[in-house]
Amino acid sequence: MEKIRIQDDLYTFVNQEAIEQLVIPDDMPTVGGFTSLSIDVEKLMIGEFNQMTSSGNYPNEYLQRACTLYKAAKNVKRKAKHGIAPALKYLKPITQLDSIKTFNSKLDKLVIEGLPLPFDIGVDTDMKDTSRHCVMIQGPRVILPDVTYYKEGMEQQKQAILAMWANMAQLVLAKTDLTAEQQAQYIQDTLAFDEIISKYVKSQQEWSEYVKMYNPTKTTKVCALMKPVSFRMLLKHLFGEVPQTIIVTEPRFFKAFSEVFNEQTFQLYVHWAYVTGLLGCCSLLSEELRDIGGMYRRALSGIASAAPVEKFAYQLASGMYSEPVGLYYGQKYFGEEAKKDIVEITKQIVETYKERILNNDFLEEATKQKAVLKLSKIGIKMGYPDKVRDLYQKLVFNERHSLFEMVHSLRKIRTLDNLSKLNKPVNHENWAMPGHMVNACYDPFANDVTFPAAILQPPFYSIKQTRSQNLGGIGAVIGHEISHAFDSNGASCDENGNLANWWTKADSRKFQAKIKAMIKEFDGIELPWGKCNGEFTVSENIADNGGMAVTLHIMSNMEGANFEEYFHNWARVWCMKAKPEYLQLLLRVDVHGPAMLRANMQPRNFPEWYSTFNVKKTDKMYLAPSKRVVIW
Ligand SMILES: [Zn+2]
Repeated sequence: MEKIRIQDDLYTFVNQEAIEQLVIPDDMPTVGGFTSLSIDVEKLMIGEFNQMTSSGNYPNEYLQRACTLYKAAKNVKRKAKHGIAPALKYLKPITQLDSIKTFNSKLDKLVIEGLPLPFDIGVDTDMKDTSRHCVMIQGPRVILPDVTYYKEGMEQQKQAILAMWANMAQLVLAKTDLTAEQQAQYIQDTLAFDEIISKYVKSQQEWSEYVKMYNPTKTTKVCALMKPVSFRMLLKHLFGEVPQTIIVTEPRFFKAFSEVFNEQTFQLYVHWAYVTGLLGCCSLLSEELRDIGGMYRRALSGIASAAPVEKFAYQLASGMYSEPVGLYYGQKYFGEEAKKDIVEITKQIVETYKERILNNDFLEEATKQKAVLKLSKIGIKMGYPDKVRDLYQKLVFNERHSLFEMVHSLRKIRTLDNLSKLNKPVNHENWAMPGHMVNACYDPFANDVTFPAAILQPPFYSIKQTRSQNLGGIGAVIGHEISHAFDSNGASCDENGNLANWWTKADSRKFQAKIKAMIKEFDGIELPWGKCNGEFTVSENIADNGGMAVTLHIMSNMEGANFEEYFHNWARVWCMKAKPEYLQLLLRVDVHGPAMLRANMQPRNFPEWYSTFNVKKTDKMYLAPSKRVVIW
């Protein structure tokens, strides 16, 4: 093993040995850090599910339903017996679409059944007044992982990936009653429709600027744009009324809507809806179809094989009943002592953040006061919620149905529940993530942070780890999430999560300059598998920067602080071994920078890195003081 110096490469120095030993499971694209923890939680919970199903003892009706679904998903014989039939039944309304007139007459049913449409509609939080809901529309997704693949210069790669997709589609269509000629036509039409969509929908980078999703548009104007769709009638059917304003998340797409969907493209749409709809069903059909239907996704990420049926079944059931499963996990495996300790750390981080903002030299007093107000109002969701939301009472299915029908009926209940929210207030008590998920988040429209129980484990956190280690792990993650309140997106929302400009002009300019500096720091960095996109990853890099700044500040005032332990654990949480295909994919679709860069870039912005390891100009992880960026 090559000897790495910490001053040259913190990430490899800390993780080299672990990475050598890690084995990427056949059904996954990556392992290490977050993923390894997820695998452990999953194994534990599969054990719990097996125990519940074999004993017949369920802690509550929700877990009982989750386990019933789990058993059905594991029942290979029963799934084989149903074959492709449930999917064909589901797609029947698509096969009956003979004209735009028929399409319009059935449109509300198509929405409720979740069939593929040339646009998506749903109810979401109104970003300008986050206490209420609004109707949002967006364009459909494209076949390739991002529209940048359709741009010039990508022709070869694009054709190769689309060929992979077409190969999979062909194998699935062969199971239907379509003739070989029809199958070829359907695939050709699907690709043609996809090509049209790709000209107008947003790239992942455009989506990453989420405040730009907010484009309130008069309904009369939206109806005119969406001709020949009877959009007004759809609104009336779905909501019993016609709201005055619609939030258009992809203005470019809807401006061009009549070019996407018209008499000439109608047949392309019908075939596209059939093929993409069918492919979307595969995982819930026979094992053979689950395997075929996953080929494309696996190839994109370099995954060798489909997940074992037990794992698939658990993921499906725990996804459908995520809150009850998370609540069960949290109550059983997350101690009150740990919860108290982490809430304490979080409060300390918020207070330190306030202190740093009040003392920083780049903001004017008025902006500082607004920022501090926002910090004072940040909600903390730690571990798991007290109870699951009411929706779960409604999530029932018929056990005698096929697996596909069970899941479809649950999805339909969720769709109807979503649509029914339009005139109801937003419930900010709801949790964005369930307790068994190894992740954390900041919700800009609720101004709160969520840390599910499952992430509150080593290497992120342990009562047995030192405070310095915990600050380099969960502390930096908590600081990261809080920093999202002040990243390139979050800074556009106020203390109640409403889109509002609380910045003075001069401060806003200075902040923009800092954002640019952060973009520059990461942009174009060459990795063996591609280049980092500084603009795409900037909000996450700002969050990492803030997380490190605030935790190092706490360290500097802490008795017995051990900076070596801090940086070591910071690097440890980013440990990751992955398939090259997956790393390439992430560069295009993940707003987070590559794990190795996250570990190695931020430390060099802070003096503690240099003093702790005696880092010199000649070391690879040295950055000239004039180039260092600290934002919060
Ligand atoms: Zn983040």
